[in-house]
Amino acid sequence: NFSVAVPVRSHDELGELAQSIQSLANELNYLKKERNEFLASISHELRTPLTYIKGYADITRRKDLDASERTRYLEIIHDESERLNRLLDELFNMARMDVNTFTISKEIVQLFSFLQNIHEKVLPAFANERIQLNLECKDDLFIDIDPSRFEQVILNLLDNALKYSNEYTVTTIKATECNGWISISIIDQGVGIPPEDVPHIFDRLYRVEKSRARDTGGFGLGLSIVKQLVEIQGGTISVKSNLEQGTCFTITFKEKTNEDSSSG
Ligand code: ADP
Repeated sequence: NFSVAVPVRSHDELGELAQSIQSLANELNYLKKERNEFLASISHELRTPLTYIKGYADITRRKDLDASERTRYLEIIHDESERLNRLLDELFNMARMDVNTFTISKEIVQLFSFLQNIHEKVLPAFANERIQLNLECKDDLFIDIDPSRFEQVILNLLDNALKYSNEYTVTTIKATECNGWISISIIDQGVGIPPEDVPHIFDRLYRVEKSRARDTGGFGLGLSIVKQLVEIQGGTISVKSNLEQGTCFTITFKEKTNEDSSSG
């Protein structure tokens, strides 16, 4: 531990310095604790699929298995390997964002056509689950974003809306402008997030009711990556949710006006 206790209580420069050192030490201790908890959770996440893979690999080596049993076990091994792969991909992405080697290239994008593209792309998946997907956006809104990173953000939020909604509900992608700020909301009529979980929803590896999330194959990394991606591009993200009624994630960006674009 960084157990610094600087016993200087004066109100002069030395006192201020002592205070800064103390708060730096507190911050370092906090980060260290967070890192340890994160590593513990990651080890657990890695171990679970590996346990399945090893267990079923052992069983499939048995001579007395019939073909259908063997196929079923091989499928489990395959699925768990894919799960492992996805986790490693997400971790890799996250690590790259942390060390700031992550490059973003922003450009001014017309929001309606951008969102329409995404809408078209995901519509079949929503139709398949009998969930209606609406898009509401005026066609004169512009924002300054990295299109592929921002698409990743919206796809992630839509993927959650789809995972946590039941059939015959409606999900809406809605963009509005107010006083030079643009808000893009993904609004679903799904299961909602319990109020006590809402403050943690953007934390790494945080899942509501682990059993519920496990069914969907999630790791609780998606939203923490989404938040980082939004903030890297200069935006903010917030959430409002009502249990059994639905959830609304809202991303806010400064609007790009014609003046902004002509002056660079
Ligand atoms: P996961 O990959 O597990 O879905 P996320 O970081 O994307 O991880 O989400 C964290 C948790 O937040 C999820 O486990 C889920 O319980 C909850 N959640 C996220 N989006 C929604 C939503 N649209 N409706 C209800 N719950 C949600």
